[in-house]
Amino acid sequence: MTSSSIVTRFAPSPTGFLHIGGGRTALFNWLYAKKHGGKMLLRIEDTDRERSTKEAIDAILDGLRWLELDWDGDVIYQFSRAARHREVAESLLAAGRAYYCYASPEELTAMREKARAEGRTRLYDGMWRDRDPSTAPAGIKPTIRLRAPQTGETVIEDQVQGRVVWQNENLDDLVLLRGDGTPTYMLAVVVDDHDMGVTHIIRGDDHLINAARQKQIYDALEWELPSMSHIPLIHGPDGSKLSKRHGALGVDAYRALGYLPAALRNYLVRLGWSHGDQEIFSTEEMIAAFDLSGVGRSAARFDFAKLENLNGHY
Ligand code: GLU
Repeated sequence: MTSSSIVTRFAPSPTGFLHIGGGRTALFNWLYAKKHGGKMLLRIEDTDRERSTKEAIDAILDGLRWLELDWDGDVIYQFSRAARHREVAESLLAAGRAYYCYASPEELTAMREKARAEGRTRLYDGMWRDRDPSTAPAGIKPTIRLRAPQTGETVIEDQVQGRVVWQNENLDDLVLLRGDGTPTYMLAVVVDDHDMGVTHIIRGDDHLINAARQKQIYDALEWELPSMSHIPLIHGPDGSKLSKRHGALGVDAYRALGYLPAALRNYLVRLGWSHGDQEIFSTEEMIAAFDLSGVGRSAARFDFAKLENLNGHY
C-alpha cells in the first residue's frame, strides 16, 4: 500500500462510555484511512467543560484500544486549542465576515419566540449585523457571529447522502465565539479539522445539519471543505433509535460480556455497510473491501442474535 495524504479523524465528546455507534464511526474512519494508506487522528472534543470527564476520556481510549483501532500521533484535546479558535474568530471579524452581537438574553429569547411563532427556522433576526458597535449598551459582553449568506443555497455533496441543499434564508448567523471568549462547537470543529489536515469527515448523520453550518464557516475562511460522509445512525431491532431498552450500548459492556474485539469489529462493519453476502471478514479483508460507496442511506438495525452468532465464529 502506498502512503497517501488521506487523513480521517474520530472526534468523540467525552461525556460517557464509548457507544457502539461511536465504535462504528471510529471503525469506518480507521478502515478508510488504512485502506488508502492514510492516517486516522483522534480528537477529544472536550470544550463542554461541564459535561466532559476524565473517566469518559479513559473509557473512550480504552474502548478504542480494545477494539484495536489505533490512531496516528498524539491525542488532540480540543479545549487546549481555544486560543487558536479565538484567533480565527477575530480574523473573521477583521475581514468583515463576522460581527459583534450585543443582543441581550431577553432580546434573543423574544427573537426566538417570534421566529417559532412564525414558523421560521432562522431564529436570530440580524439585529447587530449592520449596527455600529459604539452604540452598544453597557454591560453586555458581545458574542461574535458569522455574517452568513442571506440568499442562495448551501450545498453539501455528501459521499453517503448525495447532494444535500439548504436554503440560506433558513440558516442563522452562527455564534462563533461566546461572550466569555470560548469558542462554539461549530467553530472549533472547523478550525481543528482544517489545522489537522483532515481530508475526509466520516460521522453520524445526526451531524448533517452541522455540515451546512460548518460549510458556511469554511466558505467565510476561504478554506477547502473536506469530503463529507454522514452515516445513518444505528436503530434497534424494532426500527426506533437504538436506546438502552434494546440492550447494552457501550463497547465496554460487550467486552465485559466476553465478546471478542474481532467479533464486535466484524459485527460493526456490517452495520450500514454492505459488501455482497459476505458476513465474516478478517481485518485484512475488511480493509481491502471497505468503501464509502457501500454505505447505505437507511439506518442499520442492531441485531443481538447476529452478534452472538458472529462471536461464536471467532
Ligand atoms: N464530538 C461530536 C460527537 O461526539 C462529533 C463531531 C464530529 O465528528 O464532527 O458527536
